[in-house]
Formats: sequence, C-alpha cells, structure tokens
Amino acid sequence: MNFEHTAEQKLFAESVRKFALAHLEDGALKRAHEPRFPFDVAQLLSRQGLMGITIPEADGGQGGSLMDAVIAIEQIAAVCPRSADVVQFGNFGPIRAFAEYASSQLKKRFLPDLLAGRMVMALGMTEPEAGSAVTDLKTSARLDGRDYIINGSKLFSTFSPDASIFLVYVRFGPGTGGIGSVIVERNTAGFTIGRPSSFMSGEEWSELHFDNCRVPAENVLLGLGGFKKQMAGFNVERLGNTARSLAFGRYCFNKAREHVLTREQFGRPLCEFQGLQWKFADMAVKLESAQLLLYRAAANADRGFPSAYETAVAKVACNVTGFEVAHESLQAMGAMGYSRESLIEWCMRRCRGWMIAGGSVEILKNRIAEHVFERRFDQRAPRQADAAE
Ligand SMILES: Cc1cc2nc3c(=O)[nH]c(=O)nc-3n(C[C@H](O)[C@H](O)[C@H](O)COP(=O)(O)OP(=O)(O)OC[C@H]3O[C@@H](n4cnc5c(N)ncnc54)[C@H](O)[C@@H]3O)c2cc1C
Repeated sequence: MNFEHTAEQKLFAESVRKFALAHLEDGALKRAHEPRFPFDVAQLLSRQGLMGITIPEADGGQGGSLMDAVIAIEQIAAVCPRSADVVQFGNFGPIRAFAEYASSQLKKRFLPDLLAGRMVMALGMTEPEAGSAVTDLKTSARLDGRDYIINGSKLFSTFSPDASIFLVYVRFGPGTGGIGSVIVERNTAGFTIGRPSSFMSGEEWSELHFDNCRVPAENVLLGLGGFKKQMAGFNVERLGNTARSLAFGRYCFNKAREHVLTREQFGRPLCEFQGLQWKFADMAVKLESAQLLLYRAAANADRGFPSAYETAVAKVACNVTGFEVAHESLQAMGAMGYSRESLIEWCMRRCRGWMIAGGSVEILKNRIAEHVFERRFDQRAPRQADAAE
C-alpha cells in the first residue's frame, strides 16, 4: 500500500496549482458571488486540458483517470473555490454519464461544445414528489412514432438557468426497471424553464416543466433497464461533490490557519491559545481521514466508475468534514470569517448543500448500513413495499 501520489500525479497537481495561481486567484471572491455559470472559466480550463479529464481522447477528452480529475478539483478549489464547480461540470457531472452512454451521433452533436466550455448541461432528476425516493419519479416518456413525448416536472437542477441541454431522468415504464434518461434541448417545444430561484449558497436553479414535449428517439441516453448504469454514472457525480466538500473545508482550514498564526489578541498570536490549537488538531484529523476515503474511492474506481459503497463512505465523511471544518474555521476567524470579505462563509454555505445534494448524508448512511448488515432495508412503508414487489 502506498499513501503517496505517483511522480506523474505530483507533477500534474503542481501544474494545475501554478495554472490556478496565475489565472484564477485574482477575482476568486467576486466569482463566488456571481450566481451564473462562469463560461469564461470553463473556456480557460478547457484550453488547459482540465475538461473531460476522464473522457477518452477519441471523444475529445484527455483519457486520464478519476484520480487525476480529483487532483484537478482539489488544486483549483485551493485557489478559487467557485472555479472547482467548473471542474465538476466538465468531469464529474452529467457529462460523464453522457460521454459513457450516449450514441456516437449524440456525442458528436454536443460533446465538442460541452468540453470547450461553450455549453453547459444540467441534470433533471429530482421531482416535487421524488427527492430521496428518486425511483418514485413520475416524469414519463411515451413512444409516439419516432419520438418520445415527455410529461412531468423537475426541481433544483444545478446550472439550469444557463444550460443548453438537460439530462432528464424519465419513466418509460413501471418500477425501477422502467427508469431511463433522455437528452432535452433548451428550446424544445413543450419544455419550459421557470424563473431562477436561489439556494442558500446563492447558486440558482429553475423549475423544469415538460408538457407534451416531443424529443426524437435518438435523444434517449439510457432506455428501459438503464437505471443501474445511470446510478453508476451518478456515483462519479457524487465523488465530485465529495471532492469539493473536502477541498472547500481545506480551503477554509488553510485560510484560518494563516489567520490565527498572524492575528494577535491579548498580546499573543491566536494560535498560542490551546482552545484554538485543539480546534485545529481536530480539524486536521477529520481532513486527513476523509482524504484517505476519497482517494480510496477514486483509486479503486473501475473504468472510472467508483463503487457505490466506497463512494457512500467517502461522501458522508467528506460532506460532514467539509461542513464542520468550514464552520470551525469561520469561528477561528471571528467576524472576518463571517464576513463576505472572505470566502469562508460562502464555502460553509456551499458545504452545507452537499450534505443534501447527490444522496443526502442520511440516505448514504442507509446504504452503508445495508453493506454492514449484508441485507436490504426497504425504506418504503410496509404496504407500499409489498405492492412494489
Ligand atoms: C445544492 C443542491 C444541488 C442540487 N442539484 C441538483 C441537480 O443538479 N439535479 C437534481 O435533479 N437535483 C438536485 N438537487 C436536489 C437533490 O437531489 C435533493 O435535494 C435530494 O435528493 C433530497 O431530496 P429532497 O430535497 O426532496 O429531500 P427529502 O427527500 O424530502 O428529504 C428530507 C430529509 O429527510 C431525509 N430522509 C429522507 N428519506 C430518508 C430515509 N429513508 N432515511 C433517513 N432520512 C431520510 C433526507 O436525508 C433529508 O434530510 C440539489 C440539491 C441541492 C441542495
């Protein structure tokens, strides 16, 4: 067992760090408070080869590993946390499932613009009545000639105010096996995108409504029986949330560390007070342990897809650590940490969201418990569960 990055990974990390310091450090605070997708950053990252890191070269990607993508997200977040969202989009988000499962015709149409940072894609999964219980989704896709007719609504889709295409989870038939996905373009007749609403983090999302929205059958990404593959792709997205949580926590930790080394009260630097030393020791333990779980999930990923269990364990550890460390760092920086003059309060708000998004901490603990006891625990009310069988 080796806990070190390889020489190649170290070189890659160093090159991404230098790039981020040269191009993204200036304006990092302003960028964080801009709710819309930063297309300028996406184009910059694309030119630097930081989009599609894990996508095969034949499809316009870099042909790298999931670990490379994790390293990129860490190094970018350490300098400009908001720009790490673009690394997420270009490597971990719906683009990853799209690159894996789309037909060559669909890939040709959309991947070049997505990878160049000219276009952004959103994921439409959550519905008003299907949040954690995602398999309860009702949005339907009915075959009509050579098209599918989509009806239903989606909520909370990240990047939806700016997205040109949407990867939408739909129901082709009953049960989990009936769930698949289609690609819907923004200006398709019958598809309306509501006014942007804000999350606590300032990020915006819009309601998506499909009212007899007609999409060609070629736009099906995964048809009947595709749900398992879809979730395999979604584990990559989860790992991106995991990596950003930890990286944002570490960003706050580093800023707070500098602060307590230099800020003096009662005639001494803050770091000389044991009450603060122990906070930093606790934070270091949390960061180090969560880091190992993140790297295990990324390093063990099979063809770029991490295991559901290792992803769940890493996501719970990194989500909780990211939030707790951001929160304690804010406390250690006093009013400056609480102020919008620093990025600490923003990172804390972002980390809070990842405890809900992409499989909440509670839902992932349910999955972990199933692994522990080697049996399934149906979350549905007993009568509903019987009916579903
Ligand atoms: C920042 C952010 C970004 C998001 N981006 C997207 C996106 O791009 N696309 C998209 O489709 N959706 C997105 N979502 C929505 C996200 O997927 C849902 O919020 C998530 O699935 C939880 O659903 P819910 O909010 O309806 O909560 P609910 O399912 O109503 O759950 C409420 C609470 O109950 C808990 N709970 C529910 N069931 C159980 C159980 N069986 N055991 C224990 N606890 C339980 C949950 O953990 C949660 O704490 C985003 C959400 C956030 C916060």
